[in-house]
Amino acid sequence: MNLHEYQGKEILNSFGVEIQRGIVAQTPAEAVEAAKKLTEDTGTGWHVVKAQIHAGGRGKGGGVKLAKSLQEVEQIASEILGMSLITPQTSAEGKIVHQVLITEDVYYPGESEPSEFYMSVLLNRGTGKNMIMYSTEGGMDIEAVAEDTPHLIFHEEIDPALGLLSFQARKIAFNLGLSGMAFKQMTKFVSALYTAYIKSDSSLFEINPVLKTSDNRVIAVDAKVTIDDNSLFRHKEYEALRDLREENPIEVEAMEAGLNYVDLDGNVGCMVNGAGLAMATMDLIKQAGGEPANFLDVGGTADAERVEAAFHLILKDPNVKAILVNIFGGIVRCDRVAQGIVDAYKNMGNIEVPIIVRLQGTNADIAKELIDNSGLDVQSAIEFQEAADKVQAVLA
Ligand code: GDP
Ligand code: MN
Repeated sequence: MNLHEYQGKEILNSFGVEIQRGIVAQTPAEAVEAAKKLTEDTGTGWHVVKAQIHAGGRGKGGGVKLAKSLQEVEQIASEILGMSLITPQTSAEGKIVHQVLITEDVYYPGESEPSEFYMSVLLNRGTGKNMIMYSTEGGMDIEAVAEDTPHLIFHEEIDPALGLLSFQARKIAFNLGLSGMAFKQMTKFVSALYTAYIKSDSSLFEINPVLKTSDNRVIAVDAKVTIDDNSLFRHKEYEALRDLREENPIEVEAMEAGLNYVDLDGNVGCMVNGAGLAMATMDLIKQAGGEPANFLDVGGTADAERVEAAFHLILKDPNVKAILVNIFGGIVRCDRVAQGIVDAYKNMGNIEVPIIVRLQGTNADIAKELIDNSGLDVQSAIEFQEAADKVQAVLA
């Protein structure tokens, strides 16, 4: 589950990570109130108006602007709220901005120059350890840094059983070129950040930039936080943070129907029981010259209701030119699934896309007969290759 910047920052701060203070607003009037409150609380003279969408690169797209007066806060908030913000990470249509975060200005002048760093915490699947990735080149496009100057990106691996050791936090502060008070603040920041990552069951933190202020505080200016969906059952407090407006509508519907669905770009929809078989089926579609339009695991109980819900989802994608159903009847009997497909097909009435059904396992032969005799535009197959050939034929 992805969060907005303001939500991510609240979580970070609840674990002791220092952040750039902000208040979220839905209207220009609320933005002005937020700015006044921030001035009272922090003494800030200037404010930053930041579009809240689930995509980075907002600054480049005009979604992050400095306001030097309350009039400017109001003006900029009214420009950004409701706009369709296009950034390097959104589609060409962009994303509608429903909320702005009004923050204190933290790039104020002082005894030293402010400096921007990059820091992320994530799981390194290769080593099975957590990893802090960090760089002196913050605030900008980290992909470009990785491409052009990879030696400026550091990695620190953390054994999950030991946690972050204090020498590791010091090493990070050292590699970032800090000393004195800023060095101390950075070690505190890193260890609070790692604690927050573990305790919130996140799968990704990306803080770009982490700012060393001119008076040597170290704070998170931006926050991309992704909570591991599989941990949400033990974080009821995060449930309300999901913003369905930001998510793929077909995936939201799938989630509500209890189906594992991931939207993809291809032209062959697939409905499969079991994640492993679903992946093998996607390979099969590629071999047949098609591209999978989705990943869809209907789970063990592929009854008529679930099959129908799955057809509905697949057919919402206008790119789908054929549907491949690949079900293994282990616990569930193939003839029951076949009946489910026939019923769903009849209920839906207007399916214009050719369907190839491969049922294998218990009662596969009875299932094939059921489909072949249904009088519907559904082709059956028992062998994997047979199904692939039929997909190839309908795409040709
Ligand atoms: P992103 O563009 O979506 O990554 O949004 P960020 O939250 O990272 O903000 C983009 C940029 O706005 C930062 O890299 C900073 O350069 C700038 N910025 C953010 N906060 C402040 C601030 O308090 N004062 C000033 N002057 N600039 C800021
Ligand atoms: Mn950023």
